[in-house]
Amino acid sequence: MRALLVEDERRISTYVKRGLEEAGYAVDAVYDGREALDWADAASYDIIILDILLPELDGISACRELRRRGDRTPVLMLTARDTVDDRVVGLDAGADDYLVKPFAMKELLARLRALSRRTSEQPESSVLQVADLRLDTRTHQVRRAGKRIEMAAKEYAVLECLLREPGRVLTRTVIAEHVWNYDTFSQSNVVDVYIRNLRRKIDDPFGKKLIRTLRGVGYSISDDDETN
Ligand code: CA
Repeated sequence: MRALLVEDERRISTYVKRGLEEAGYAVDAVYDGREALDWADAASYDIIILDILLPELDGISACRELRRRGDRTPVLMLTARDTVDDRVVGLDAGADDYLVKPFAMKELLARLRALSRRTSEQPESSVLQVADLRLDTRTHQVRRAGKRIEMAAKEYAVLECLLREPGRVLTRTVIAEHVWNYDTFSQSNVVDVYIRNLRRKIDDPFGKKLIRTLRGVGYSISDDDETN
């Protein structure tokens, strides 16, 4: 999951970025409303976390502009004051949810999970599953055939990306864009390296291979019986 974080207070930005990264998100942090629009245009995000009080262009106007451009990325607004007005104006501008500062990281992560459940193709459940492979987005646990599999944060993120659209071939670029932020997404073989690690953990020890390679295109995960 890749997040755009728009918050001009460096202390809060650093805290939130670190917390999100620990939870497996790839995070690009920007510090004003105009930058936010540029980055939202240039990359594809799973979530945008948008403060209301920002330099250049405030969060409400930035959100309105995103929606005007047809960008449907879920937006979580951060507001300093818990006033009904702020909330209503934020939601009217096209935000999907809001969170009042100060907030606990745990609360922010819970809101983000709820938002991605609301907008994903598999609503209601926190579990993504293909065959006997299960990934729980709430606990970050991965199991295959009931056996717990330990994963590094980025391995988990690549697997989650594939499992969110079972059967669909995702290009390396699409996977990388969801898993790495702008600063680290540069080496072209990084996705291949992580896919290799994933195969070693979730496929090799089990009978049936789930991760597929479409040569020259990308990767998918599926339960059908084509040979790989
Ligand atoms: Ca601010």
